[in-house]
Amino acid sequence: MPVEENNAGIKKPPRLGIALIVSGPSGAGKSSVCSALRKRESSLRFSVSCTTRRPRPGEQDGEDYYFISVHEFNSKVRDGLFLEHADVHGNYYGTLKSEILDHVLSGTDVLLDIDVQGAMQVKKAASEDSTLSRCLELVFIGPPDFAELEKRLRGRGTESEEAISKRLADAKQELDCWNLYDYLLINKVLEKTVDDLHSLLDILHKKTIRLGDSGFYG
Ligand code: ADP
Ligand code: 5GP
Repeated sequence: MPVEENNAGIKKPPRLGIALIVSGPSGAGKSSVCSALRKRESSLRFSVSCTTRRPRPGEQDGEDYYFISVHEFNSKVRDGLFLEHADVHGNYYGTLKSEILDHVLSGTDVLLDIDVQGAMQVKKAASEDSTLSRCLELVFIGPPDFAELEKRLRGRGTESEEAISKRLADAKQELDCWNLYDYLLINKVLEKTVDDLHSLLDILHKKTIRLGDSGFYG
């Protein structure tokens, strides 16, 4: 985002970007919602996570995830490169600081699709960092019910039976966490959920706390 000038030619710092975290149990529809929102909002940057899980057919390294080894993952942990990281359903996942911080500071909105443990780590980090706290918005995407979650997870056909069982067992705890988030969207009809998230993003753009230290009219 370019630095704006006011009438006197004084440069104003840009608006602070939003770090929009979307979480929820596996199969709730997070990837589907995020990918549809990204198509509508081309300025929205997607935070590409690191993971040690194997790519699914069609997934691109550097686009869907950075697919890395456990050795590489541990070395990034040691180097302090992650904003958050967690063992999720038996694989490691982590958000690189470089995917978020500079971008929000220069006014770009960033979308993160991360699990509940990761979202709670970022929430805790934000409680100790005023910039992160101003950026952060937490959205929980839930399924209409557990049977539908299982149907979607099986219908996706990307996991083994063992992995599906693990994800469903984890979902029971994850579903209990919805009230730790700022917003709850129940993903019943995909288009409607995307509309709701898009409207929410519009409203969040009006939040005064992110409009810039020099003031909107300054
Ligand atoms: P997640 O990223 O939360 O694990 P996905 O976006 O991969 O979930 O969605 C899981 C499966 O459910 C996919 O096959 C997707 O096409 C399907 N799906 C997503 N949203 C809906 C919905 N609202 N109604 C029916 N099926 C959906
Ligand atoms: P999947 O393997 O289905 O792509 O993702 C499994 C889970 O990992 C999802 O809940 C997804 O939100 C989460 N996830 C993806 N990237 C990250 C990340 O960087 N950090 C954390 N904590 N979870 C992530």
